[in-house]
Amino acid sequence: MASLYLKNLSKTYPGGVTAVRDFSLEIKDQEFLILVGPSGCGKTTVLRMIAGLEEISAGELSIDDRLVNDVAAKDRDIAMVFQNYALYPHLSVYDNMAFGLKLRKIPKAEIRKNVQEAARILALEDLLKRKPKELSGGQRQRVALGRAIVRKPKVFLMDEPLSNLDAQLRTQMRIEIAKLHKNLQTTFVYVTHDQTEAMTMGTRIVVMRDGLIQQIDSPQAIYDQPVNMFVAGFLGSPGMNFLEVLIIEENGCIFAKLADALLPVPTAEGQRLKEQGYLDREVVLGIRAEHLCGSGDFLDRYPECALRGRLEFSELRGAETYHYVRIDGREVVVRVSPELRAETGQEVGAGFTMAKAHFFDQES
Ligand code: ADP
Ligand code: MG
Repeated sequence: MASLYLKNLSKTYPGGVTAVRDFSLEIKDQEFLILVGPSGCGKTTVLRMIAGLEEISAGELSIDDRLVNDVAAKDRDIAMVFQNYALYPHLSVYDNMAFGLKLRKIPKAEIRKNVQEAARILALEDLLKRKPKELSGGQRQRVALGRAIVRKPKVFLMDEPLSNLDAQLRTQMRIEIAKLHKNLQTTFVYVTHDQTEAMTMGTRIVVMRDGLIQQIDSPQAIYDQPVNMFVAGFLGSPGMNFLEVLIIEENGCIFAKLADALLPVPTAEGQRLKEQGYLDREVVLGIRAEHLCGSGDFLDRYPECALRGRLEFSELRGAETYHYVRIDGREVVVRVSPELRAETGQEVGAGFTMAKAHFFDQES
């Protein structure tokens, strides 16, 4: 059990690269926190600073109100699970899990108890005598988790632990790690660049870009109220559609002008745009593929926001189909029901409700 407090953490590597800037965050006891962002945005650096594997250039790191900037990694009571789980090939599963405890000169009986308990939690009991090469990828990843669990650390740090597994195993392990968190009731900080993992596993998400925090929120809030185009485009599949529109006022109502169409902006949002000085300026209207609907019934449902374009490509995903439609020179992705069939090149429609539209500054 532990809470972490990161205050204005920064990391500049010896070569001069500043990988993390002014990173401030409070991680609550027993929280499952996700750090997400594209490759190179500084996620691993944040984890390594927490673990004590990387010196902190500026700022303060506290664990349970104790400043630990200068506390050695081995004295922080934190376990880290890596992407390439690096098991000792010549040791059995049991000995791999026991290794760290033996180094610490823990009594044999206690080691046995801890390993057996971890093996039970991770369903590894029947595999304890095997060598890593006799295990599947998922089983090896579970052994790597087991090695962390046996130490009973206060905090688990996981750096893209599933990225070496195939898609099906990833889904399975995603659920197992979420269950593990419930079971252990410890603080988890989990790094991923996979938006499905980010959206489904944690209680809170930190979205990073170029070493800076973009947004910290629950998965639902990140999805519903992304603060900028970067966050909106990064989370949610297949991302958000962005359309440049001109904000205008006519007869006291605010509209977003998209080519020839005048789309009525909901009153509160319109007021906000007006107050913030966006009248007669171009902004970006964001709308998710799942909040658009295809030809068929859209004209009745959203007559005020019906656009027409040409179907460029349709992607069948089983439960749903995505239409890539060229509308006024740009490509818009629309989620349609699988029954809706259309030929490439055919004229199709795309309708939506402005209640689901987001407005962003350009290039945010
Ligand atoms: P992520 O885990 O999000 O992919 P990293 O924390 O690994 O990002 O890296 C962030 C930035 O810091 C990158 O630009 C990377 O090249 C740089 N970086 C990482 N480790 C080192 C290092 N040991 N020395 C110099 N630069 C580094
Ligand atoms: Mg990394």
